[in-house]
Amino acid sequence: MSDVPNPALPASQSPYFRPGERVDLARLQRELHGLDCDGSLSGRERASVDFHWYSPVLSTALAGRLSDLVVRPRDIDEVIRVAAACVRLRVPLTVRGAGTGNYGQCVPLHGGVSLDMSALNRVMAIGDGWARVQAGIVMHDLNEAARASGQQLRMWPSTERIATLGGFIAGGHSGIGSIRHGILADPGNVRALQVVTLEDPPRRVELLGADIQKAHHAYGTNGIIVEIDIALTPSVNWQHLIALFPDYRAALQCGLDVGRKVCELSHSKPFEIFQLSAVERRITPYYDGLRERLRDQDAIFAQVAPQSEALFEQLVRSAGGHVAVRGTETDLIAQGLPSATECAYNHTTLQALKTDRGVTYLQVAYPVPFNPELVSAQCDRFGDEVLMHHEFSQAGGALTVFALPLVRYFDEQQLRELIAAFEADGCLVFDPHTWVLEDGGMKQVDELQLEFKLQADPLGLMNPGKVRAWDERMLGIPGGTL
Ligand SMILES: Cc1cc2nc3c(=O)[nH]c(=O)nc-3n(C[C@H](O)[C@H](O)[C@H](O)COP(=O)(O)OP(=O)(O)OC[C@H]3O[C@@H](n4cnc5c(N)ncnc54)[C@H](O)[C@@H]3O)c2cc1C
Repeated sequence: MSDVPNPALPASQSPYFRPGERVDLARLQRELHGLDCDGSLSGRERASVDFHWYSPVLSTALAGRLSDLVVRPRDIDEVIRVAAACVRLRVPLTVRGAGTGNYGQCVPLHGGVSLDMSALNRVMAIGDGWARVQAGIVMHDLNEAARASGQQLRMWPSTERIATLGGFIAGGHSGIGSIRHGILADPGNVRALQVVTLEDPPRRVELLGADIQKAHHAYGTNGIIVEIDIALTPSVNWQHLIALFPDYRAALQCGLDVGRKVCELSHSKPFEIFQLSAVERRITPYYDGLRERLRDQDAIFAQVAPQSEALFEQLVRSAGGHVAVRGTETDLIAQGLPSATECAYNHTTLQALKTDRGVTYLQVAYPVPFNPELVSAQCDRFGDEVLMHHEFSQAGGALTVFALPLVRYFDEQQLRELIAAFEADGCLVFDPHTWVLEDGGMKQVDELQLEFKLQADPLGLMNPGKVRAWDERMLGIPGGTL
C-alpha cells in the first residue's frame, strides 16, 4: 500500500476503529430515526448468523457474536444516512444479503450495525445482454425478470432461490453456469458496481472494468454495494440430467471430456452445458428422493441445452456411463426429486449435513490440466475420511476442476493435516474454516482491495476483524482482532 499512515498508535489515539470501542446505541438510534431499525435480541440474533455452521471450527470461534442494531434501508438515500451516522459515531457496520455465506462473512465480530440489504431489490433496467439492479435482489427474482426478456444470468450459486446478487458478488466465487461462462472475476461477467463509501461524507462510487475487483469478494469490507450492472445471456430451458458410472474414475473422465468439449466449442458452435458436477457413490445416498434412482452409483449431475443433449449422452456412453434421470427443473420437482442445482456446489454439503452432523468439508482447486489419477490416488490415501465431489468450471478461459470434498470430522488438527496433504499434491485449498478474508482465498493480501479500503472505509468500520492485513498494519494487532 502507498501513503499508509503510521499504524500501531496507542488505542486512545488511533484514527481507526478498534475492537472494544463503545457504541453509543441511544445516539445512533436517534440519528436513524424514521428508518426500519430492529434492536430486539431475536432480530439481532437472526441478522448475526450465516451458514458458517458447516464448519465446527467456525461454529465454536464465532459463537455469541452479535450486532447492536439491525437496519433495513428502503433506498440508497437511507443507505447513505446509515453510512454517515456510522462514520460520525464510529460504529462498525456489517452488510448482509441473505446470510447464506459459509465463512461467517456476515457475523459482526465487534458489534455495531447489521445492514440488511433485502429491501433494495429493484430491477432498474434490462437491456440486451445486461441488467442494472439494486444489490439486495434475490438472484431467482432477477432470473425471473430476465426471462421475460428471453435472458438469464450467466451464473448463480446453488443458493439462487434465496441469496442476493450483492452477497454473491461480495462473498461468492462461481457456481452453476461457470462451466460455460467462467468465474465471477472473469472479465465481462460483472459489468459495473456502485458502492457507497464510509467516508465523511459518504460518496457513491461507480467501479468499472478492472476496478470491479476492488469490491468483488471483499466481504463488504470496503464499501456497500448498492447497484450492480450484471451480464445476461440468452435463456435456455435447461434439461437436468443425471448420468451414472461404474466407478468415480469414469465419472471424472466423462466430466473432463465434456468440459474440454465445452471449452473447445465455446467460440464456434457452442456445446451448451451449464452445470457439470461429479459426485461419488459414498455421497449420493445423502440425496433425498434420489437414493433409489442412483442405487449407490457414481454420478454426474449436469444441466444441458436440448440441442446439446445428444453430444452429452454420446460422451457419457464413451466413458462407460448412461443417463438415468432427465427433465426440466419443474419436471424433477414434480416427481419429488431435487434439481441438479441442489445436488451441486455447497448444496452437496448441505444434503449430507441434513442427516449427518459428523461431516464437514474442504474447498480444493486442482492443478491445471486436471488429472483424474490424482483423485484416485487421493481416494486410496484418505480412505473413509474424505468423500469426493468435484465441480468442472472455466476460470480465466481454462478448464478448471474444484472439489468440495466431504470430510468425516474428528478435530481441527485433522483438517490442517488434510489441507497440507492436498497442498502437497499441488492443489490449492480455499480454507472454509476461517473468517479471515486472506486466509480463505489465495493466502495473500489483495493490495488493490486494501488500498481501496483506505479510501472507501478510512476508519476501518466495515466488517471489522475480517481483513488480517488491516488489523496488522493499521491497528498493529498481530494475527487479527478476534
Ligand atoms: C447450500 C449453499 C450453497 C452454496 N453454493 C455456492 C456456490 O455455488 N457458489 C458460491 O460462490 N457460493 C455458494 N455458497 C455461498 C453463498 O450462498 C453465496 O456466495 C451467496 O451468493 C451469498 O449471498 P448472500 O446474499 O447470502 O450473501 P451474504 O451471506 O449475506 O453475504 C456474503 C458477504 O457479502 C457481504 N455483502 C452482502 N451484501 C453486500 C452488499 N450489498 N455490499 C457489500 N457487501 C455485501 C456480506 O457482508 C458478507 O461478507 C453456498 C452457500 C450455501 C449455504
